[in-house]
Amino acid sequence: MGGWLYDPRPLAWRSRYTAPAARSRVATHANNPLVVGTGIAGLYVALRCRELGLRPTLITKSRLDEATTRYAQGGIATALGPDDSPALHLKDTLRAGAGLVDVAAAKVLTYEAPARIADLVRYGVPFDTVEGQISLGREAAHSRSRILHAGGDATGLSIEETLKRRVLDAGIEVRERTALRALRSTSRNGTVAFISDEKGKNVEETEACPIVLATGGAGSLYRQSSNPSVATGEGVAIAFRAGALLTDMEFVQFHPTVFWREGAPRFLITEAVRGEGAVLRNEAGERFLVGQHRDAELAPRDIVSRAVDREIQRSGHPCVYLDATGIPRDRFYGRFPSVGRFLATYGLDPSRDWIPVTPVAHYMIGGVTTDLEGRTSLRGVYACGEVASTGVHGANRLASNSLLEGLVFGERVARQLVHPVPGKLPVPGRMVRIDWTPGGGRGDLSGAVNRVRDILWDEVGIVRSGIGLRSALEELAALGRSTEPASPAELPGPVSNAVLTASLIARAALTRTESRGAHYRSDFPKRRPAWRLHIGLVRR
Ligand SMILES: Cc1cc2nc3c(=O)[nH]c(=O)nc-3n(C[C@H](O)[C@H](O)[C@H](O)COP(=O)(O)OP(=O)(O)OC[C@H]3O[C@@H](n4cnc5c(N)ncnc54)[C@H](O)[C@@H]3O)c2cc1C
Repeated sequence: MGGWLYDPRPLAWRSRYTAPAARSRVATHANNPLVVGTGIAGLYVALRCRELGLRPTLITKSRLDEATTRYAQGGIATALGPDDSPALHLKDTLRAGAGLVDVAAAKVLTYEAPARIADLVRYGVPFDTVEGQISLGREAAHSRSRILHAGGDATGLSIEETLKRRVLDAGIEVRERTALRALRSTSRNGTVAFISDEKGKNVEETEACPIVLATGGAGSLYRQSSNPSVATGEGVAIAFRAGALLTDMEFVQFHPTVFWREGAPRFLITEAVRGEGAVLRNEAGERFLVGQHRDAELAPRDIVSRAVDREIQRSGHPCVYLDATGIPRDRFYGRFPSVGRFLATYGLDPSRDWIPVTPVAHYMIGGVTTDLEGRTSLRGVYACGEVASTGVHGANRLASNSLLEGLVFGERVARQLVHPVPGKLPVPGRMVRIDWTPGGGRGDLSGAVNRVRDILWDEVGIVRSGIGLRSALEELAALGRSTEPASPAELPGPVSNAVLTASLIARAALTRTESRGAHYRSDFPKRRPAWRLHIGLVRR
């Protein structure tokens, strides 16, 4: 990787943020962490902190169990099979990541995976078994069957519910409907957090204490998305405002097979269905992926998503079809009960009917830069799970590596809080310093998030171009001016954070003038060796 290059173009985003004086103090202690977010990463970190003798406080802006984690279907990847090894899992992770995976981080991920699965089993996650052995499914771009699942296709729900129960049993303090609003570095002893209720009222300030960001991704900022509404990328915006380094924000993964019907929810049809033998067909019944990639429907997600998108553009038909009629009926309903139940509500039987599908935004690969111990560039602030950019996914996440990432790096964060070891943040090859000044005042906030969602889907989506990205940035800048509070005494809220996170994605996407992994530019359709580097974003 090269050194830090200074990119002099300021982002047209302008806002200023100064944390206000404390309203009241929340009781935290210098050694006891505030864990933000109750998906797999936050719940697991809090539990492990408790087991290691700390007294974490866990907050979530929503309900305790409302997180992207509960919607995860396919499973969690770990090399457990007799024909498998962490080395093979690592090899597949590197191949999917299109030259940008941080090898040290991916080694940590794949080699520490079996121990973290043992933790989940110890906590009581009911993984599916066959004849007493954990059953292992297959997903795209994995060379072996290594996807552990629970409740068939309810893996995330099983994990979320099990960890939630353990957190409550352990007596960990949980504050629901309590949002992180801002971080502020203090000159003496680290970082303090500002938290508030969901209406932005009753602001409290913590003592300087370790803060663990486990706030998840930003998928719901796209008009078409598989993510629940809590996934708004707020952790990224808040960390960025406080001066944290972000990396890889241009890499947003799109999932190729989400149920399509006018007015229906965007329900994910897990990749594991293709792993079991389902194929994709266009309206005419042709398998359009054959000939495009040697693995056809099991090619990496970016390849399949773009192929589906192209097919939809070419045909003018609003969707393509997942043909699972080759999977025996009992097997389908046994392995994918939630999908089967969902389809039944639309009168579809997968052993007879093709399933209409379309691609949607699914996963934020980039985020707040961390080292191998989960440290960010802000003193006393750690990050794990989807909000973190550990480098394990490179330019394209291997399916089912993200639940695992939350666990593996969550464990490292917990241990780091108890027994700190030195580490080093990865150095981006290209730095973009982003300028920002106060917003012009209070605009109309009501339609702003919908506008953000349209802009991201239309211009910062599966296929991007310089013209579209510049226009997206201009429009986001205008939205930023009207939504960012004019007064430094006011904390930016979820709308300003949504606009900021969207701007950061668009800015990184404009900077990367090549196509790689999940980032595809129609004006730069080839991968360029000179761009085998990470883009860092930091506040000027
Ligand atoms: C439909 C679907 C299927 C998936 N399937 C799989 C799969 O099979 N395998 C796999 O590995 N991955 C899968 N993923 C991805 C995976 O689910 C996520 O990457 C993972 O669950 C993220 O966990 P997390 O703990 O980092 O964040 P989340 O689970 O999203 O939790 C984030 C938490 O932070 C809280 N929060 C956010 N902002 C704030 C704030 N400002 N203040 C307070 N709280 C805040 C949220 O309320 C939430 O509690 C899937 C994703 C989706 C959407």
